[in-house]
Amino acid sequence: MKNWHNKAVDLTAKTVAGEIQQVRIAIDLIEMGARLQLLQEETTLSRERLLRLYKEIKGKSPSKGMLPYSTDWFISWHANIHSSLFMSIYEFLLRNAGIDGVQALITTYRLYLDQVQGVDDDAEPVLSITRAWFLIRFFKAGMMQLSVCNECGGGFVTHANELHENYVCGICHPPARAGKTKAAKQAHAELVASVASETSAANP
Ligand SMILES: [Zn+2]
Repeated sequence: MKNWHNKAVDLTAKTVAGEIQQVRIAIDLIEMGARLQLLQEETTLSRERLLRLYKEIKGKSPSKGMLPYSTDWFISWHANIHSSLFMSIYEFLLRNAGIDGVQALITTYRLYLDQVQGVDDDAEPVLSITRAWFLIRFFKAGMMQLSVCNECGGGFVTHANELHENYVCGICHPPARAGKTKAAKQAHAELVASVASETSAANP
């Protein structure tokens, strides 16, 4: 497997090995629910091939709806906890696992799903793979960042163009309407613990 990371090997779809790798990436992304634009930008496969693959795996054509472009979504309470968990894992992997690009996205998303489903089998992955992909882009573009909460010390997704000196996260100060049910409270408490442990592992 080491060769996959060797830049000397052409991993575009021009070589057989490269093509297999590209198809594998596309299948992983499609199974995770990726939208077509993500597949087109993160693999070198043609649009026609991607559409065929998509139909084979999902049994239907990809959705043609608008992609989720807004940064504000990641700031709303519930989404922010999930996004922060995802980005904490992502940054940890970039620093410690020697992966980048689409592999980092796939590996992080898999770990994120494990965390969410580990809390509660019925827990919905609030953050879709397509939103996760956008989130990484917003970080790379310097539009968003992880800010440290003054109370719990965890890293949380915030806009980058704001002052965050006295930042307190949505877990330490949840809005009144959040966590209405006991189950939701329990699930969030465990997600909080996940975010905290991922973050402290990422920032020793
Ligand atoms: Zn906090």
